[in-house]
Amino acid sequence: MKGSAPYAGGVRRLAMATAAMVVLLGAGVALETALVGQAERGAETAPALTTPTSGTPTGGAPAGEPTATVTTGLDPAVAPRIVVDHLEFGAARKAETAAYAKRHYGTATWRLTPTLIVLHYTESDTYASARSLFESDVPNRGELPGACSHYVIDKDGTIHELVPPTVMCRHTVGLNHLAIGIEFVQSSSGHDPRWAVQQVLRRRAQVAAGVALVEALQRRFSISDESVIGHAMANDAKGFRDLEGWRNDHLDWQRPEVVQFRSMLTMSP
Ligand SMILES: [Zn+2]
Repeated sequence: MKGSAPYAGGVRRLAMATAAMVVLLGAGVALETALVGQAERGAETAPALTTPTSGTPTGGAPAGEPTATVTTGLDPAVAPRIVVDHLEFGAARKAETAAYAKRHYGTATWRLTPTLIVLHYTESDTYASARSLFESDVPNRGELPGACSHYVIDKDGTIHELVPPTVMCRHTVGLNHLAIGIEFVQSSSGHDPRWAVQQVLRRRAQVAAGVALVEALQRRFSISDESVIGHAMANDAKGFRDLEGWRNDHLDWQRPEVVQFRSMLTMSP
């Protein structure tokens, strides 16, 4: 993703009650439930596109009420901690996704069996703004469903699952039928895209979380290191396909930084 999210300095974010399950994944066992208040993470500011969901939980269930047990399907013995904060992805969005898949890939399905992982950065400064954009389901390149990504990793290393990795989500032209999308919260702030990714790579907690998440997904879906790519590499990726001739024009995560990221992966199948 590479949306426009101007940095609105100085505006302290309003508290947003976000009910979210914090689980240590797998086996249907929710080990910890937490109310994650967006404001707790403090002095970050809200980009202009953020729509505070005051009073409206974004996690699917009313704040304070127990949600159904949610798991990510990852091995609980080795999976990183993931905050499940799913987008509203009901029948309408699934139908939009299946229609998109039919037009672009020739298969009318919203289901995903991932064979690739594509790395992105949000081009926004907060998790909340990225989530808000993905939740909005507004046309992208004139088509629905709106853009989204399966995971968003905050600067402090918190991993959020917005869409299960078995559901197709629009993050990379030509590869959505194959790929899980992972976003790192980072704005380029007027610098070039490589600079932005280098900021992520220097942020120890965030990159460690990314490595742990990617390794867990590699184990679950038998995805090789070479199949962990950057958005900027997508047009040349194995399996790239778009029946309407679309190509990516995004430059997030170019090869040198992806090679650096891959070098940290140790659990590849
Ligand atoms: Zn991207």
